[in-house]
Amino acid sequence: RELPGDPRADNIPREVLHACYTKVSPSAEVENPQLVAWSESVTNLLELDPKEFERPDFPLFFSGASLLVGSLPYAQCYGGHQFGMWAGQLGDGRAITLGEVLNSKSERWELQLKGAGKTPYSRFADGLAVLRSSIREFLCSEAMHSLGIPTTRALCLVTTGKYVTRDMFYDGNAKEEPGAIVCRVAHSFLRFGSYQLPASRGKEDLDIVRALADYAIRHHFPHIENMSKSESLSFTTGDEDHSVVDLTSNKYAAWAVEVAERTASLVASWQGVGFTHGVLNTDNMSILGLTIDYGPFGFLDAFDPSYTPNTTDLPGRRYCFANQPDIGLWNIAQFTSTLQTAQLINDKEANYAMERYGTKFMDEYQAIMTSKLGLPKYNKQLISRLLNNMAVDKVDYTNFFRLLSNIKADPDILVDDLLTPLKAVLLDIGKERKEAWISWVTTYIEELAASGISDEQRKASMDSVNPKYILRNYLCQSAIDAAEQGDFGEVRRLLKVMEQPYDEQPGMEKYARLPPAWAYRPGVCMLSCSS
Ligand code: AMP
Ligand code: MG
Ligand code: MG
Repeated sequence: RELPGDPRADNIPREVLHACYTKVSPSAEVENPQLVAWSESVTNLLELDPKEFERPDFPLFFSGASLLVGSLPYAQCYGGHQFGMWAGQLGDGRAITLGEVLNSKSERWELQLKGAGKTPYSRFADGLAVLRSSIREFLCSEAMHSLGIPTTRALCLVTTGKYVTRDMFYDGNAKEEPGAIVCRVAHSFLRFGSYQLPASRGKEDLDIVRALADYAIRHHFPHIENMSKSESLSFTTGDEDHSVVDLTSNKYAAWAVEVAERTASLVASWQGVGFTHGVLNTDNMSILGLTIDYGPFGFLDAFDPSYTPNTTDLPGRRYCFANQPDIGLWNIAQFTSTLQTAQLINDKEANYAMERYGTKFMDEYQAIMTSKLGLPKYNKQLISRLLNNMAVDKVDYTNFFRLLSNIKADPDILVDDLLTPLKAVLLDIGKERKEAWISWVTTYIEELAASGISDEQRKASMDSVNPKYILRNYLCQSAIDAAEQGDFGEVRRLLKVMEQPYDEQPGMEKYARLPPAWAYRPGVCMLSCSS
């Protein structure tokens, strides 16, 4: 539903009331757009013939210069809490949905162009995206998927042939940067903020919250829609009064619980690979539990719980690595309170969803850390001692776990040989710190020996959960530097390497290296919300 307005003014930034979306037309200026990279795996999902990529008009469609037959493009209306503050209407300021593709498995995939021009939700900004941020979104969407982490996907990357002005460091030194467009793909791009905005607009719009919840449940949570009272199961809450929340009597409560649980397992999987999202505002929280909106994200190199890739989030570090689990809960609290405002769930149900977030997160996180260490069961003390050691000695998170699988469960090993498998990640540590590591590895080996699992078996299972290749910021930066000079080879090579993060990939070892010195220079690899 849309308020009547001037149809010629459909891209003019404005407040859009009583609506979930606005029909818009892509309007980015393009001049000889070029297709520079695409994901084979998304091509397969959509059952696209790879020959389509060779069509001379392909870049026109995927830069928004031409519209596919049957496409009715629109931009979504949503709000959100930004850095803890209610920000009101945000919406798709530079994302335009082209439509949905239904594949032969009846899977529905929404195709969305990011950076294709202004929408009513562009506020003060230009609706465009620059090459560097588009490369990052394109590569990381696919890297995350290959790591086994739920995420929006990326079909292709197109350069627009036009320049976009950006003030990267907000220092008045604006720069012209090449423009680009990523085609994002997901079952749905609905966010917590899609529900928050209508709920914030008073009684009149509460029926929108309900309609949009009904829509999401019907299309994306059909098992909840089909949940019948006959299979009725109720759950005891942790409340003192041991009262019962019957999830089958209220589909919205069952939905809230599932969104909470998906969010919890998503965040647990981020913690497992050392991914820091960077901008966990409620408008960047997918109701499907997908990683969404790749801006100033970063993977941990040296382990640092306070790692904050987003310079806009300094010095507060609200969204630092170690805060993500709590922020997930804070965001779920906003989501459930929205459903309460719309009278879809009650207090008890809201509390129950939050409680389930906590339980699910702990269960998943413990399981992930246990399998990263190849342990037979969770050992809280061993894991916290390890993380503490890693933080003190700034040990590379990815390479440490990858090398850890080379430790043999041999209790008779000589003290001098204990740290040999970890040599490459325990650099420059003094005598005292060496003692701390020897002590940790000794306990670790005792645990392994007691488990009775063979060294070979444990190595195979550990290597299947501890990636060798992750999309480190410096790798992205190298690919961006080359691309800005017109060479997209490195973008394509990185994509290929990141498609098999758990495999050894002989010849590709340089992509598993620690960041070089240049990556730490001021101004390099600096990321902010502006892109
Ligand atoms: P983000 O911090 O990336 O989640 O963006 C917050 C809001 O700003 C969303 O509504 C975006 O659509 C919007 N936005 C970000 N960059 C641009 C841009 N270049 N043009 C228009 N809107 C933008
Ligand atoms: Mg966003
Ligand atoms: Mg963004």
